[in-house]
Amino acid sequence: MASASISWLAKLSDQHVIVTANRRLALYWQEQYAAYQRGLGHTVWQTLDIIPYQSWLVRCYQSGIDNGLLTPQLLLNEQQELSIWETIISHSARPLLQLAAVAKEAKRAWQLLWEWQCSLDHPSFTHSEDCTAFQQWAQQFQQHLTLQQWLDCSQLPEIVYNLLQQHSELMPRHMVWLGFIELVPQQQKIIELLLKQGSTCQQFAFSEQVATVHCLTAPNQATEIRTMARWAKNLLNNPAHRVGCIVPDIAAIRPELLRTFTEIFVPELLLEPNNIDTRLPFNISAGLALHEYPIIYAALQALQLNQAQIPTSVLLHLLRAPFFGPAAELFAQVRLQGQLRPYHQHKFSPPQLLSWLQSQKVECQWLRNMIQLISHITHQTTQQAPSQWAQSFSEQLELLGWPGERTLNSEEYQLLQKWQALLAGLASLDIIYPSLSSKMAWTKLQALAAATLFQPQTPESKLQILGTLEAVGQRFTHLWVMGLDDNHWPSKPSPNNFLPLSLQRDKLMPQASSERETDYCKRLLSHYYQSSAQVIVSYSQQAADTMLRPSRLINELTCLGLNELMLADDIQLAELVAAAAKVEEVELSSAPPVSAPELVRGGVGLLKSQAACAFKAFAEYRLGAKLAETWELGIAATERGNLLHSCLEYIWGRLGSQQQLLKLTAQELLDIIQQAIAQAISQFKSTRATMLNHKLWQIESQRLTKLLLAWLEKEKQRKDFTVIATEQAVELNLGGLALTLKIDRIDQLASGEYVIIDYKTSKVQAQWQAEHLTEPQLPLYCISSPYPIAAVSLAQVRNDEMKFHGLAQSDGLLPQLKTADDWQNMLASWQQLLEQLGAQFLAGHAAIAPRDKQTCELCQLELVCRIRGKAVVSDE
Ligand code: SF4
Repeated sequence: MASASISWLAKLSDQHVIVTANRRLALYWQEQYAAYQRGLGHTVWQTLDIIPYQSWLVRCYQSGIDNGLLTPQLLLNEQQELSIWETIISHSARPLLQLAAVAKEAKRAWQLLWEWQCSLDHPSFTHSEDCTAFQQWAQQFQQHLTLQQWLDCSQLPEIVYNLLQQHSELMPRHMVWLGFIELVPQQQKIIELLLKQGSTCQQFAFSEQVATVHCLTAPNQATEIRTMARWAKNLLNNPAHRVGCIVPDIAAIRPELLRTFTEIFVPELLLEPNNIDTRLPFNISAGLALHEYPIIYAALQALQLNQAQIPTSVLLHLLRAPFFGPAAELFAQVRLQGQLRPYHQHKFSPPQLLSWLQSQKVECQWLRNMIQLISHITHQTTQQAPSQWAQSFSEQLELLGWPGERTLNSEEYQLLQKWQALLAGLASLDIIYPSLSSKMAWTKLQALAAATLFQPQTPESKLQILGTLEAVGQRFTHLWVMGLDDNHWPSKPSPNNFLPLSLQRDKLMPQASSERETDYCKRLLSHYYQSSAQVIVSYSQQAADTMLRPSRLINELTCLGLNELMLADDIQLAELVAAAAKVEEVELSSAPPVSAPELVRGGVGLLKSQAACAFKAFAEYRLGAKLAETWELGIAATERGNLLHSCLEYIWGRLGSQQQLLKLTAQELLDIIQQAIAQAISQFKSTRATMLNHKLWQIESQRLTKLLLAWLEKEKQRKDFTVIATEQAVELNLGGLALTLKIDRIDQLASGEYVIIDYKTSKVQAQWQAEHLTEPQLPLYCISSPYPIAAVSLAQVRNDEMKFHGLAQSDGLLPQLKTADDWQNMLASWQQLLEQLGAQFLAGHAAIAPRDKQTCELCQLELVCRIRGKAVVSDE
């Protein structure tokens, strides 16, 4: 393959300039040529002038300046151009929401005008409002550039053309254009000039090879990718092969491609994903945008500390990310996360944050750095030039210890260099904006990161996974082009919004019409067929709910069955892991008994866990396994429950009986409820860290008022009762296990009987039979109560449904309660079961034995008990 593909290059001399459509292609042919020379036994050779088109233009321009033939002008970079468009558009009379997107589209329209050599004065610009608006923006853009003596990339070819026209001595004598599917009129003009002045110009195309092409159908995209990866792996067993996989819209499915190819080629790497890209035996193009890499993402998050309102999510990220502070302080940072969560607010002002940071008792570098940084930020200037922001941002990250003390991998080193380039890009905006707010500077930096694709440098590989254009001009022994279904190939027209449609169609501009797209895709296929001896094209039959057919450009090809590829057996990663794993079974039916020095704290929850699954109780109450509190905005559900409990305790403390309740006027009842709420909220604020604002508390008060009014209405409809205890603490000893309980409420009815009530704000579901006991709470209260209890009930206090749920000795003690068949017998069996559970816990009974499947679904310990690997859960 090498000699055939390189023979044309070997005939060229240092008189030739070979311009390529992109940088990747220039590198590819430079490497091919070097390999060819080494193959001839040479250790030194004359390098060929292989250069990307855009770089060649810049080189010509620079040479014009160096020779005194051109007046130097500042050549704008992409971000500078976009910022000028944004500034002009933002001052236009039309209100625009997506300023950045509109600026990008306008910039592209401007580029198309120059490439296709169209005039801005074309009469069709008056046909639509968008086109007219663009015409005005473009005129302002041009005037601004002329005034400032700046030059943009769209006009650079015109400058080079004029330069070459006037100074033919600067012209290359021989030129080869490589990897261009089509030459735009602007490029054709340059070629015509070269030819007219006596230079040779040649557009390179492979001619010695026409492929055998087959079409393969896959049921879905995942199978299509997987089959392509297995096919490539099979071929790479032969070191002479160079394999290409072409993927339209590669950026959109890059993660799937990376995962599948890694799983097929080096599955073990999936288990240690850090630095994965740099150790793969294949090269995959279309890197991620810079802000998608964790180290850059973390830096951008940290710089949000400059905002007037700092999102809590940013602080939590900074506490979790490994790029700030010493790794040894991880536990201190976890503790700080725990301190931050109870605030339940999604933003902090810098002074609020500073006061929170200063109130923390945790000793760690992270905290000290943050205090220093936030103090610094609160005094910094609010407006400064982009280059000053670049400097400030850099210093701020240094203060925070970014990128941390851990050893960086090769990808992260490359990313640090990219970060410096990003800051330089921000600084380059000085010429556009004399000053920016910190928020605007951050937005610009973020936009720059989002627009910059980064692919870690990897060694040259025999397997290239490429987008549709990157593959043009490269040579392969085998090529697979996937995704050629009738929905995507040719792609649907998508003309530019700011250029007249008739103009775009007349000139055959990109994506202007379906005919143009069809022709373009045909040309691409023809390039692929000439670049490899064997080509497979493929499509999937289904994408989500849509059935797909082959593109009309490939439906006459010979079909190839999956089994004709003769691939090795497909082994899934899970099977490989299972086969390689050495599983060590630890049978844990009993732990050491609880002995004197061991301090076990628990209440109802302990016995509830023991009843659900002995291991759960063991893990939670003896090993201390506990899930971190999840961060919720506003007031957490458990806190809402506590507020309701406090309110009801206050109300019944004031009223004492149903008779008192019934005597109240509507206004008196409302007053008591509001006093109860005010007291509950004040108590909450005095015991919990909170920075919730006044408005949120107002909403919570309204919610509680509505809820309490509805619940007390229900209480009015019961039989006469007196509340004799609220939130009563009870100590209980169950077979040696000391428990501390708190009974929400005990009522005495007019008949003299006692009932226990426990408030719930969640949906109530409970089974009371001893053999299926799911809620031991009420039975525990029952056996520990100082009064003989005749009914127990969970009171569901919810706006969607208010109800009592429980058991009674006889009918009518509380609404909706069921009557127990034999109350005394039931009390005895509860006593026996609870004592048994307590004794089992003390004895160290810790078998992984959940009561049923649902128990595990509601439990969060499966990573500890590994129940999934066991077959002990019955469906009952
Ligand atoms: S997940 Fe199931 S088996 Fe594991 S501790 Fe929880 S309840 Fe027990």
